[in-house]
Amino acid sequence: MKIICIGRNYAEHAKEMKSDVPTEPVYFMKPDTSLLREGDFYIPDFTKDLHHEIELVLKISKAGKSIEEQFAHKYYDEIGLGIDFTARDIQAKCKEKGLPWEKAKAFDNSAPIGNFVKKEELGDLKNINFELKINGESRQIGNSKDLIFSFDKVVSYISRFVTLKTGDLIYTGTPEGVGPVKIGDKMEGFINGKSFLTLNVK
Ligand code: MG
Repeated sequence: MKIICIGRNYAEHAKEMKSDVPTEPVYFMKPDTSLLREGDFYIPDFTKDLHHEIELVLKISKAGKSIEEQFAHKYYDEIGLGIDFTARDIQAKCKEKGLPWEKAKAFDNSAPIGNFVKKEELGDLKNINFELKINGESRQIGNSKDLIFSFDKVVSYISRFVTLKTGDLIYTGTPEGVGPVKIGDKMEGFINGKSFLTLNVK
């Protein structure tokens, strides 16, 4: 399986990163070794500025290539919550030099993933609330209504370039409020007020 992540998909996050709001989806990938399904997260030794990015995640349920946007909803059946951990200091250097982001984004365990639900259970997919709390304090609050590119749009767009397969995950982008994590932090993610992910930082 593969993990595809959308960058800058919420305007307020693009602004806080001092990036332009994109006119077409920006994506990058993480390998399957990035996935962290259970257990604690250990901050890697190569970064001094590891940031959390809470994101809604689509689970691909059917293989597809060049999917039309109007049919894209048939290609994902579950939605969950994940964290796109980012070594912000390394990413800044990559950006400066125009280099790829993999070193900053695609390291081992950089993609913790929580529970999934059938998308029907979430009601209106254009109005999904999600939140990240750290040590009980709210850090990021987002709503899918603020997506620049909708779920269907990103599925359709990515599939023009890359065949999507059953089990692939699409991290759909993070809202504003990204920031550093530190050893001892207890992270908890919520969708529509319900806990979907917990993670201890070590
Ligand atoms: Mg992200």
